Amino acid sequence: MNKQLLGESLHAYVRTFGCRANYSDSEKISGMLAEMGFGFTKNADSADVIIFNTCAVRENAESKVFGNIGSLVHQKRANPDLIVVVCGCMVQQEHIMTKLHDTFRYVDLIFGTHVLHEFPEMLTKVIIERKRIVNISENHKVIEDLPVRREFAYKADIPIMYGCDNYCSYCAVPYVRGRERSRTPEVILGEIRDLVSQGVKDFLLLGQNVNSFSYGFAELLQSIEAIDGDFKISYMTSHPKDLSKDLIDVIAQSEKISHHLHLPIQSGSNRILQLMNRGYTVEEYMSILQYARIKVPGISITTDIIVGFPGETREDFDATLALLKSARFDSAYTFIYSKREGTKAAEMEDPIPAAVKSEWFTEMLAVLDESSGGAYERFVGKTLRVLCEGESRSGKRLYSGKSREGVIVDFDPRASSGEDIIGKFVNVKIEEALKWAVLGSVQLTVDN
Ligand code: SF4
Repeated sequence: MNKQLLGESLHAYVRTFGCRANYSDSEKISGMLAEMGFGFTKNADSADVIIFNTCAVRENAESKVFGNIGSLVHQKRANPDLIVVVCGCMVQQEHIMTKLHDTFRYVDLIFGTHVLHEFPEMLTKVIIERKRIVNISENHKVIEDLPVRREFAYKADIPIMYGCDNYCSYCAVPYVRGRERSRTPEVILGEIRDLVSQGVKDFLLLGQNVNSFSYGFAELLQSIEAIDGDFKISYMTSHPKDLSKDLIDVIAQSEKISHHLHLPIQSGSNRILQLMNRGYTVEEYMSILQYARIKVPGISITTDIIVGFPGETREDFDATLALLKSARFDSAYTFIYSKREGTKAAEMEDPIPAAVKSEWFTEMLAVLDESSGGAYERFVGKTLRVLCEGESRSGKRLYSGKSREGVIVDFDPRASSGEDIIGKFVNVKIEEALKWAVLGSVQLTVDN
């Protein structure tokens, strides 16, 4: 690359698709780039290296990635020195890797989720030897000590485990991220201690199923809680089949653990849950939900639902609607089933026409609106402790943050007397409940 020969700094553009695990990987990719001396740009047009970290969970995410790679053809023609890198879950699937390799000849480096740590070496080879590299080999070790370039000074995502052993029949994750493996509590606690001493106040523990953390998830939370300092802890994702009542007891007694439980149920029909290989029944799920609501008053519970799973009947769908009405989730992330090649569900008969799935989806949103509507009224009149994250997207000169219940709180910051409150805890008196957020004003007290 000419710039490199001239001693100028190269700039990287990193774009991430998909879930928080992918964003966490991108922070490591950026950390390795920074160690290699790269600068960063938010503008792909001026980048020397463009990296797409991809997601395999839904078909539309894949199409988006292909669209983005396709749009680089002119830039690459105009600047043959440009390096294009595609990595992440999507390329770990053989049919995708083959398509990328054969159709997008200008992609210089393709690598999967297992060889993230080899990125500097691979990129150096591509730059110096002008060699095209494809590496989707598997490696089931936990690699520690990769540098991390975090986007925020006050919050940090902490992976506690990688991969997944659950093989839900619709999901590609176990195939693209490999079998479940946990980091050790010592390493996780050491990392959090360091970050607390640097002023980080918000930790999100990441795993596809944090409840099956090999060394005991409830124990890990208790050890993190015991670290000195003022910070909050949340986690995702919880699998209902592994969530124990002991864990809820730990949350109930804690000062720092979030009172938000994201617990994906996926369907209200036991028949569909079995076809999905989820490992629990609706009744078992509801018993956890009730226990959590009794033990942790005010807890916020959210979920995921898939509509139009292969073989789902109107009766199954009605069971999902009934569940939404009785469970009264604070909110739900809803999806129409997306076929993933290589999974069990992709081989199941799927007679429901796409138009019917769309109708069901719309019907479900209406039921959800009604069942979750007013859920946030319970916070009106209360004072919530909120970590201020910056200006609200509402454009009304409000600030925004999240409460311990994971609720978005938009607030008028004027009572904070102009003090810089971003990245600090503030107390906000809630005056109004909206559909997806609550509104309030900051109280005079601003903690540390
Ligand atoms: S628990 Fe199921 S849905 Fe979640 S990542 Fe594992 S296989 Fe996929």
